[in-house]
Amino acid sequence: MNPRIGQGIDFHRLEKGLKLWLGGILIPSEKGCVAHSDGDVVLHAICDAILGAAGLEDIGHHFPDTSPEFKNIDSKILLQRSYALIKEKGLSIINIDTTVCLETPKLKSYIPKMRSVIAVILETSPENISIKATTAEKLGFIGQGDGIMAIAVALVK
Ligand SMILES: [Zn+2]
Repeated sequence: MNPRIGQGIDFHRLEKGLKLWLGGILIPSEKGCVAHSDGDVVLHAICDAILGAAGLEDIGHHFPDTSPEFKNIDSKILLQRSYALIKEKGLSIINIDTTVCLETPKLKSYIPKMRSVIAVILETSPENISIKATTAEKLGFIGQGDGIMAIAVALVK
């Protein structure tokens, strides 16, 4: 019953005309992520955090981006499968804290929906899923709108 901690980080390139999936929902945006999957950085960081907490390597190990099985896959399925792997080890979520860093659009109004979507998948309360958004103050590739980053920490028991 000892708690275990894990962290995850993910980056994607942003390009015009692609869809922006974040936290399991589609966000209206001029740019979206270049990715083998749907490019949901929030869910990818959370997958790595919970897998890391369980000592189960990383998302690329379980769901390789060279496999046609995962082409354009909905990242909610990757999170479901990652959660199934930690459940097999008898683990459940205590809480998750995530920060997503992008220049635009503003995410504030979408965050409650993201939290509830993720909470359902991870069989916990939205209160246990924190998502925060910040910008890079126009600095570097995130600040110029060329990329997006998310970082997550997960505590499991
Ligand atoms: Zn990713």
